[in-house]
Amino acid sequence: MSVKERLLLLYKLNKVDKELNELYSLRGDIPKKIEELNEKKGELEERINDIQTGLDQIEGVEKEIQNDNDALLERIEKNDELLRSGSVKTNKEYDALAKEIEDAKTKISYNEKMLKEEYLGKKEQLTAEMESLNKELADILSELELNQKELVELSKQTEEEEKELKNQREEIISKIEPEDIEHYERKNKVFYGEAVAVVRKGSCLGCYSSIPPQKSIEIRMAERVFTCESCGRILIAEELITA
Ligand SMILES: [Zn+2]
Repeated sequence: MSVKERLLLLYKLNKVDKELNELYSLRGDIPKKIEELNEKKGELEERINDIQTGLDQIEGVEKEIQNDNDALLERIEKNDELLRSGSVKTNKEYDALAKEIEDAKTKISYNEKMLKEEYLGKKEQLTAEMESLNKELADILSELELNQKELVELSKQTEEEEKELKNQREEIISKIEPEDIEHYERKNKVFYGEAVAVVRKGSCLGCYSSIPPQKSIEIRMAERVFTCESCGRILIAEELITA
């Protein structure tokens, strides 16, 4: 086999490896995205939980105050009835009942004022925050679902493509001389899918460094295998591919 033929086989192998590499990187992007989305989802859920705790606390206070006020109203009604019933005998007793009513009314309005000033504003703020967080969470959940679907779909697609490319690889490798494969695989470990570089107009297209004119001519003549002095890739002249 001529050096030219050997180089062309390596070039073909390199093309297959390049496609394989693209396939892997394509798939590799989505799992990372899913991971990021899951992280965001966790953070949002934690914040939503915190806000829910705050809202529950406020609701607890509201209930307490409501119960307190209900009891006070009951007291007022009871005293009112007593006063109207005419069963109250003494002025002292009358005054005591009337004062209790007054006190209860004062306490009720104090409760209502406190609730409004201390809790209702905070409740509104937390509710609004909760609403926007829930919206954000819904967006993330739908994006997550989309990516998960895509990953499944992609894995299905790439599975076939990968198999096909690996078959091609085996077929090409079967034609390559063992020492060339060994050389290629060594470079391929460093430059995955880019072990072979094309030389165009006196430049290595792997690293874009220039190659002396005399060497460019020798590379084109392909009497032996050259590697780039800068990057180390196996070199093939563009003229050999297009010819
Ligand atoms: Zn180079």
